[in-house]
Amino acid sequence: MTPMADSPKNVLEELGFRYDPADLYQGVINTVLAAAQTINTPRHLQLLMAEPKNEVIVHFPARMDSGEYRLFKGYRVQHNNILGPYKGGIRYHASVSLDHVKALAVLMTLKCSLVRLPLGGAKGGLQVDPFSLSTEELRRVTRRFTAALGSNIGPDHDIPAPDVGTNAQVMAWIADTYMNFAGPDKRSSGRAVVTGKPLEFGGCLGRDKATGQGLVYALEELLPELGIDLEGMTFSLIGYGNVGSWTGRLLTELGAKLIAVMDHAGAIYSEHGLHALELAQHVQQERGVCGYPEAETISTEEFYKLNVDVLIPAALEQMVDEEKAGWINAKVVAEGANAPTTPGGQRILQDKGVAILPAVLCNAGGVTVSYFEWRQNRQAVTWPAHRVDEELRTQIQTAAKRTRVAAHRYDCDLRTAAYCAALDNLSCVYSLRGIFP
Ligand code: NAD
Repeated sequence: MTPMADSPKNVLEELGFRYDPADLYQGVINTVLAAAQTINTPRHLQLLMAEPKNEVIVHFPARMDSGEYRLFKGYRVQHNNILGPYKGGIRYHASVSLDHVKALAVLMTLKCSLVRLPLGGAKGGLQVDPFSLSTEELRRVTRRFTAALGSNIGPDHDIPAPDVGTNAQVMAWIADTYMNFAGPDKRSSGRAVVTGKPLEFGGCLGRDKATGQGLVYALEELLPELGIDLEGMTFSLIGYGNVGSWTGRLLTELGAKLIAVMDHAGAIYSEHGLHALELAQHVQQERGVCGYPEAETISTEEFYKLNVDVLIPAALEQMVDEEKAGWINAKVVAEGANAPTTPGGQRILQDKGVAILPAVLCNAGGVTVSYFEWRQNRQAVTWPAHRVDEELRTQIQTAAKRTRVAAHRYDCDLRTAAYCAALDNLSCVYSLRGIFP
């Protein structure tokens, strides 16, 4: 490996960070900066990567069904737009914080660059438990949040999408609110302000399953060289929401065996394999995997210790920490969620010889199909489902090959390789465009 020109800690110190390796944002940035130093990225680009371009924080009131008003805090972090308009999901979750959103925004910059999409990186969040709101409250809160963001979002500027706690309906409300505020020239084209919309209102076929589908395409490309045959392999999933349930369904359709799932409510196991579609229906009705009749309940520790070919974290960040990594008994960890593995967890997995397939590649299917939706909205066309799948497969498998080439070239792990391949592209565009003035 090329010797490190500098330590990531120094770049963070120069920017006034109080060094805290337990912080999600610093954990992510440290790994990105380590990759930047592996390929001798110019120092000014390292500094640019370490802080987002804009951090928007809004506070706004919304009326609850009781007639009382509640004050909400929302974020939109725009990390980088050298490649194109900012792009990234909006999360509704009680634990959303600025550092959290910043970490997810930098990962979006790298993801878009790795897949070579003409988009930058952003992320948004609202500090709220969406399940505690009625549908009407959710609609009012979403409209006020959109109004508060104002011209900070737009089809040519910053394009949100769904993430944890938001869905196609929430995107429809955001688009409608934006279109009502837009001038007459932007009113009809304004729905391209968000992606992940319902099909009837400018959505893209295949967007629902896109992140799971992209993960499957990445596995098809990378598992053979790790000696794993997708057909017949065993796997387990953390999280059975959008990403987890689609990954479960698509992999079992290809002959893989889903033996365990853990979500916020508990963990279940079946040595004969779980029926992924029936489990998805159960989760919809019961809001969790617990009580699924064809399986036995197991503890968190038993879940992690299961012997599987592939473990797929598809829930929240930082779930695979040092303790969990010590328990893991899988050949491969394929990251469906963003930043599910802490730096300490990664070290332990690497020491145990577990291959980690990084999130910036594995979950890039979501933003890739979002890009397809944005293109269709702007051209007023609709692609057939097979075109979406074919183009997604090409984009993801090309990005996987790019990652593998970088891993050989820089003699590094796949996460560092994916970051190097993304940073190489950003660095090239920065040197072509120069830094204003
Ligand atoms: P989701 O809200 O649909 O599902 C989240 C899942 O996580 C649920 O099954 C929930 O039960 C589970 N969960 C929550 N807390 C948990 C806990 N403490 N232990 C175990 N499980 C827990 O969210 P999603 O859209 O599937 O997103 C999951 C991850 O994938 C997030 O990191 C998100 O940023 C990332 N991601 C999503 C997309 C997308 O298109 N939806 C795209 C790229 C990345």
